[in-house]
Amino acid sequence: MQVHCSTDIVAFREILIAWGKEHFRPFPWRFTESPYHILLSEVMLHRTQAIQVVPVYTKFIERYPDIRALAAVNGEELHQVLSSLGLRWRIDLILDMVAGLMSRFDGEVPSEKRDLLSLPGVSDYIASAVRCFAWNLPEALVDTNAVRIAGRLFGLEVKDSSRRNRRFREIIREMVDPVRPREYNYALLDLANQVCEKKKPRCVECPVFGYCKNGALSISKKVLEIQACDSI
Ligand code: SF4
Repeated sequence: MQVHCSTDIVAFREILIAWGKEHFRPFPWRFTESPYHILLSEVMLHRTQAIQVVPVYTKFIERYPDIRALAAVNGEELHQVLSSLGLRWRIDLILDMVAGLMSRFDGEVPSEKRDLLSLPGVSDYIASAVRCFAWNLPEALVDTNAVRIAGRLFGLEVKDSSRRNRRFREIIREMVDPVRPREYNYALLDLANQVCEKKKPRCVECPVFGYCKNGALSISKKVLEIQACDSI
C-alpha cells in the first residue's frame, strides 16, 4: 500500500503521529508556544544540529526572555553574548530582526506569513515553522528531510532542486495533518532523524513502511537476501 488516496493519508498521519508521541525528542523549544522563543530557536537551528543549539538557546532565553528585553540591550553587549554562545554569524541577523519587530510590529512576532517573511533572515521554512509550532497552523515544512521522506514514500527521484519543485511542495503540503499540524511536523522531523536517515533508512523499524515505495522495495530486497543466504 502506498499513500495515494485520502483514506491512506488519514491512516498515514495517524500512524506517524502515534509513533511521534513515543519518540518525541524533548528539546526546550518544543515546550513553548511563545512565537518569539520559537522564532529564535528556528534561527539558531538553521544549518546547526539541534543538540548543539540546546545550551545556546537555553542561556539566551534565560537572559532575554522576551523581545523587549532583547531590544533593550545595546549592540555591543549583544555582540559579546552572542559571540560567547557561538552565534557570531547570526548577530546582525538577530539585531536586524529585533529592530524590525520593534519598529513595525510593536514588539510582537506577527502570525501572517507575509509579515514574517518581511523580517530579515526569515526564510519560507522559518516562517512556516513559527506559524506551525507557535499557532498550530497547518504549514508544510519543506526542507531536505521532508523532501527525502516524500521522495522515498512516493518513489520520486530527489535532487538538490527538489525543495523548490512544485510537485514535492504539493505532496508535503497535502500530507500535513490539518487538525494536529504541530504533532505531525514534530513526528516527521523525528522520523527523519531517527529512522528515515539520509544515508541508511531503517525501513524494518519504520512505522510507515507499509505506505512507502522505497520501504516496500528495501524490505523485499532484504527478504530476497535472507532467502539467498538460506539456500546456500
Ligand atoms: S520505509 Fe524506509 S524509506 Fe520509507 S519512510 Fe520509512 S525509513 Fe524512510
